[in-house]
Amino acid sequence: MGMYSKVRKRLEGWKTKTPTIVGLAVAVATTAATATGAFQLLEWAALDSFFRLRPEEAIDARLLLVTIDETELKHFQAWPLPDAALNRVVNTLQQHEPAAIGLDIYRDLPVEPGHAEFVETLRTTPNLIGVEKIAGEPVAPPPTIAGSDRVGFVDLVLDADGKIRRALLSHPDSQGQLQLSFAVRLATLYLDPLGVKLEALGRRGRQLGWGRARFVPLQPNQGGYVNAPTAGYQILLDYRGTLDRFERVSFLEVFRDRVSPDLVRDRVVLIGSTATSLNDLFYTPYSTPFVPETQRTSGLVVHANIVSQILSAALDGRSQLRPLPQWGTWLWIFSLSGTAAIASWKVLTQHQYASAVPMLWTTAAAAGLLLGSYVAFLWGWWIPVVSPLFALFTTVVVTTSTYSFHLQRLVATDSLTQVGNRYACDRFLERVWTDCHSQGDRNLSIVLCDVDYFKNYNDTYGHPAGDRCLQEIARTIAESVRSQDFVARYGGEEFIAILPETDLHDAINIARRICQNVRALHIDHASSATSHVVTLSCGVVSSYHCRSLQAKDLVEAADRALYLAKADGRDRYRTYVCPPIPQRPIY
Ligand code: GH3
Ligand code: MG
Ligand code: MG
Repeated sequence: MGMYSKVRKRLEGWKTKTPTIVGLAVAVATTAATATGAFQLLEWAALDSFFRLRPEEAIDARLLLVTIDETELKHFQAWPLPDAALNRVVNTLQQHEPAAIGLDIYRDLPVEPGHAEFVETLRTTPNLIGVEKIAGEPVAPPPTIAGSDRVGFVDLVLDADGKIRRALLSHPDSQGQLQLSFAVRLATLYLDPLGVKLEALGRRGRQLGWGRARFVPLQPNQGGYVNAPTAGYQILLDYRGTLDRFERVSFLEVFRDRVSPDLVRDRVVLIGSTATSLNDLFYTPYSTPFVPETQRTSGLVVHANIVSQILSAALDGRSQLRPLPQWGTWLWIFSLSGTAAIASWKVLTQHQYASAVPMLWTTAAAAGLLLGSYVAFLWGWWIPVVSPLFALFTTVVVTTSTYSFHLQRLVATDSLTQVGNRYACDRFLERVWTDCHSQGDRNLSIVLCDVDYFKNYNDTYGHPAGDRCLQEIARTIAESVRSQDFVARYGGEEFIAILPETDLHDAINIARRICQNVRALHIDHASSATSHVVTLSCGVVSSYHCRSLQAKDLVEAADRALYLAKADGRDRYRTYVCPPIPQRPIY
């Protein structure tokens, strides 16, 4: 068997064990890190970029935004706008028969002039929805419609990075009364006349059916979320886009009755502010630091997105953004780590010299993973990408390091006898020699052993028996030295024991022990002229002249001592004292 195939065979012995352990360990570490929320911000960022990458959807023609901007503030010279202005705009819109009018402006207090008329309009317009705020510092609804089903809350839920990715559909108020959101109220007014009703589904009624839509409340640990505060009834907000995904007219245009009735008829009309100075602005997935104009989106646009999401899901069956459940993410991480570990191990063991190969594969796999997650997003699934990517890369890095660790050990091991090989010997000797140098004159000893009449042994018992004999001898020598000593196969049937910080006296004891122990193996050797069993001859040298000698001089001296032992009859040790090289005269 050639050297290469021996190495190959050993590596294949680890075929299943190493990658399995690595894959499992990385998967466990990654899921643990995920559970601490280490990847949450990055998962959000990845989701946001998917939103921004997604091809633009059509403008939702079921909605109309009536926006209050700086122009309106300048025109009316007031904020809040007087009730008279709101009154006129609501009445103008109502003439064109909208499905619903959502007034996203707090009116808990009268704003004269025109309050009395506005109260009357509020009372008599059945499809007008007013707003309240129920959490934090609550803001009451307009008193005229308070407590009726014509009030919805406009509370928005922000993630820890300040962005809105969830829609709150219902939530109990401070009195424990379940309240519906502004968007749900508006959607109800649109859908009810079409016979599309909201109904509770599932065993505990937590799932909601609404036409073709099926809503499942968000749980704290789904998608990229870790312990998200999912109180109330929340769903992932599947944005249609920012302001430009909705038809809009300005408040002033309606005020002057310059709006085409077709823009209003049967639509959900949302009236609210987009004025920068009013600061009702929020961060969304579309906010990027690179494009300042799209930095923040008004609350009005967020509510419009929620209404649009409900309507298009209920009527068109537009897919909802569904988060992968936590067990799904874990399964994904485990299967990725496992596959990556086994595949990269296979690639490594088959192309022993090319550790760049798994990295190329990994980069391709990572690109595929990103693309796959994006495609899944287009299909309405939020699958975490950062923790799987982390698992993938970590697995490959750990597998590659483990492999190179194994390889390093293989490179330094004699494949027949499993002690160090010549290369390992040279490196060890170099190292202790340097130590010897740097730490002042220390003793370093070497025992060089050679099997007696081994050629005859081979001739008598055959080469395979000779191999087994060498294995026995190597094991015995390794067991005869101390833990700090190093044993290597120096040549065919020659072994070397390197004994750091050992003087000649101790080295001789060790050499004697080696000879005894090998003799005690009682391996028959009929063709030996020395003994009837296999014996060794040893050359022992010790040096405290490290400064004036070189490592190879020491081995040379050991070889000379070994020659003496052979010449004196074998089965014994001899020593040789290294003479220090005389100092060169300084000219
Ligand atoms: P001496 O007592 O003088 O050392 O005699 P010797 O026969 O041991 O010395 P020599 O150097 O002539 O022979 C060494 C033999 O070791 C020759 C070679 O066939 C054998 N040998 C070297 N490597 C291996 C090996 O890996 N396996 C086996 N079975 N034999 C080996
Ligand atoms: Mg020899
Ligand atoms: Mg020999």
